[in-house]
Amino acid sequence: MRQVLVLVDHVDGSVRKPTLELLTLARRIGEPVAVHLGPGADTAAPVLAQHGASRILVCDAPDFDDYLVVPRVDALEAAAAAVQPAAVLVSSSSEGKETAARLALRLGSGVITDAVDIETSDQGPVVVQSVFAAAFTTKSRVTRGVPVITVKPNSAPVETAPTGDVAVETLAVTFSALAHATRVVSRAARESTGRPELTESAVVVSGGRGVGSAENFALIEALADSLDAAVGASRAAVDAGWYPHTNQVGQTGKSVSPQLYIANGISGAIQHRAGMQTSKTIVVVNTDSEAPIFELADYGLVGDLFAVLPQLTEEIKSR
Ligand code: FAD
Repeated sequence: MRQVLVLVDHVDGSVRKPTLELLTLARRIGEPVAVHLGPGADTAAPVLAQHGASRILVCDAPDFDDYLVVPRVDALEAAAAAVQPAAVLVSSSSEGKETAARLALRLGSGVITDAVDIETSDQGPVVVQSVFAAAFTTKSRVTRGVPVITVKPNSAPVETAPTGDVAVETLAVTFSALAHATRVVSRAARESTGRPELTESAVVVSGGRGVGSAENFALIEALADSLDAAVGASRAAVDAGWYPHTNQVGQTGKSVSPQLYIANGISGAIQHRAGMQTSKTIVVVNTDSEAPIFELADYGLVGDLFAVLPQLTEEIKSR
């Protein structure tokens, strides 16, 4: 069976959930080989093996932290040369997409970004994407070389598939001249809210112009906290200065695909839909029964969010 490279997304060896989702998809196509770059491979290896990695290629160089994406591309190129994979899977973060695009160029192949699913065919992996503000679903295939595919977080389930004793091997990487052309000079940690990351969270509670003020976002946050959810915002709410841009959902914000998306006081403009339409279950709270967002709703509630949200939060907390 052909091997499939999976770039591990981790923080000091703590493997992030999107990587486990990539391993689920990789097992559909072939045998997952995890590529762990930077420190923490000892911590990561058992987790990766538990989720189906049959081999782990490790390069513990400081370059991955100190420089931008090129060292990762160098490492993945070396891994691809060693493994001759059926595909390379990378998580769809902005860094992941840049890494994937540069890698495909190096490999002389093609890249498909923001996959929401991967199917198999005799000709290789078929990538499912949700395009044009999720109005269409497309299926495409890289027809030349090793397909490089980025996958949106929350697109696949996390499945355990223990592989027992996994081979941890050192990956020798020769860094290219470009690897050190740009250097990270400082990092500023964002103040933690204690909530899950927006693009990775299984539940997202969002607020729009209907929320009315920055202070009123406390209602959105209270509901989010009762569900252990991330908070999202429409551009109208962000432009008004009520919530940070890092939480904006949509075409010029982040694209999310949670199990549950609760839209409060959001009309459903096409640019907002572009970022949330692939959510599995969509709940809408809006005073206007004609609001376009109701077209997407699995459950719609025509009502005032100031009356509905406190009751909803209390009800959830009491369970
Ligand atoms: P509105 O459209 O004003 O809707 C507010 C809703 O709240 C209404 O439906 C109203 O009925 C409801 N409401 C009011 N009071 C209450 C209440 N008390 N209880 C319940 N409901 C209530 N938008 C994004 O969101 N993300 C993007 O990334 C994005 N990118 C864009 C890029 C471009 C190039 C452009 C041109 C626009 C972009 N927009 C984006 C903006 C988008 O077109 C809309 O203007 C925006 O999404 C509207 O935000 P909203 O739904 O919160 O506000």
